[in-house]
Amino acid sequence: MITSINPANGEILATFDAHTPEAVDAALDAAVAAQREWRRSNDDERSALLRSIAAILRRDAEQHARLITLEMGKPLAEARAEIEKCAVTLDHYAEHARTYIADEEIASNAAESGVVYDPLGVVLAVMPWNYPYWQLVRFLAPALAAGNGAILKHANNVPQCAIALERAVTEAGAPSGLFTTLLIEASRVQSLIEDDRIAAVTLTGSTEVGRLVASQAGKALKKQVLELGGSDPFIVLADADVEAAAAVAVKARFTNNGQSCVNAKRFIVDEAVADRFVARFAAGIQALTVGDPLVEGTTIGPMARRNLRDDLHRQVEETLAAGGAELVLGGAPIPGDGAYYAPTLLDSVSPDDTAFVEETFGPVAAVIRCDGVEEAVSLANQTEFGLGAAIWTADVAAARDIARNIDAGAVFINGMVASDARLPFGGIKASGYGRELGALGIREFMNAKTIWIG
Ligand code: NAP
Repeated sequence: MITSINPANGEILATFDAHTPEAVDAALDAAVAAQREWRRSNDDERSALLRSIAAILRRDAEQHARLITLEMGKPLAEARAEIEKCAVTLDHYAEHARTYIADEEIASNAAESGVVYDPLGVVLAVMPWNYPYWQLVRFLAPALAAGNGAILKHANNVPQCAIALERAVTEAGAPSGLFTTLLIEASRVQSLIEDDRIAAVTLTGSTEVGRLVASQAGKALKKQVLELGGSDPFIVLADADVEAAAAVAVKARFTNNGQSCVNAKRFIVDEAVADRFVARFAAGIQALTVGDPLVEGTTIGPMARRNLRDDLHRQVEETLAAGGAELVLGGAPIPGDGAYYAPTLLDSVSPDDTAFVEETFGPVAAVIRCDGVEEAVSLANQTEFGLGAAIWTADVAAARDIARNIDAGAVFINGMVASDARLPFGGIKASGYGRELGALGIREFMNAKTIWIG
């Protein structure tokens, strides 16, 4: 049984029976058959499908946004923005996929030689709840544009979003079976990975599950893209515009109720400006409006599940119990039926503290004080993760050099890390491997086939 629960009040929204093994089998057969046809579609047909999905998402944006907010608790305005971002990305690939995967001529000893890009087949997508539409669409848009098919195993707390996505794609005119949502328990993913009808796997989720899925896919010799956890540093150097940095820091940490892989999580601030930064940051956090995410004006809703809130609170308690860190704001669950956690600011966190070592996936910011650029970079890299990073400084030339020394898949200078359909997105180290979005993203699940003509 798969249960959809509103994290704002604990009410059960809907329950679903899991798909039977026979239904899963039929979905895989249908996906393979549909993809065999779809791989023969031309650029215009693929673009038309993507544009049609985008139009349907925009037409029903309010309905989809409410579903997101009801199932996982993000403020409604952010849910609307998520739907629009999906539509923009579908339109992006509708326009640019043909260029990204156009045949390439490469000079060699042949009369003519080069590379053509063929689809791989049916890709299994295992997706998280935090951006229930976006995480799927940023994979699905390029996958369909590439001529692939897809099977979705979504997080089990967002089944209604998963079903609504499938409906939108079907209504847009996708060949029957080309994209199917399976409502199944996580324990059944391994058998899908091993199934010959699945060509490759993409997972967005925790590092722990990433390791598991990677080993299963590795054993089956199937290509994987892994978008995993992060503990992004947000470096504020002594010459930074502290007011601007602190204002953006609030958004960088607390957007999506603090549950984004690229939320800034460790604020590494030069001691010279740390008091000023912490004061401004705290004022910005206090100005957030915690409440029902369906109410306009709410900027912080509940966390997605109570067990996730409990784990976040453990991290805060462990950090404070170690003795060095100082609690500036929050630090406790908000009583009631919802999974709310008070927006929290910890100062003087050190590299041994739980809030530094582990990914904090919720509304908790950790400030780490440092002395100069070298220490800032060393602290930034002192983590198992390597997803994104931000640097705030007046010296952009120096920041370019610093960026090259940071172990991350993306470095944003004087801005906050965010994904963009045009730019590759992904991590290194325990944040995973492979890239989504842009030209690199569409090529991940394609066979770059060499053609040689004598
Ligand atoms: P999760 O527990 O790893 O779940 C992700 C997906 O994996 C869900 O569909 C889940 O299904 C499934 N899953 C769980 N256990 C599995 C298993 N043993 N075998 C196969 N699949 C399994 O992650 P989450 O708590 O939902 O999401 C938060 C994490 O995702 C954070 O670490 C965050 O940083 C990361 N994330 C990364 C990115 C990125 O782009 N790098 C983006 C967003 C989130 P069930 O729901 O049924 O358990």
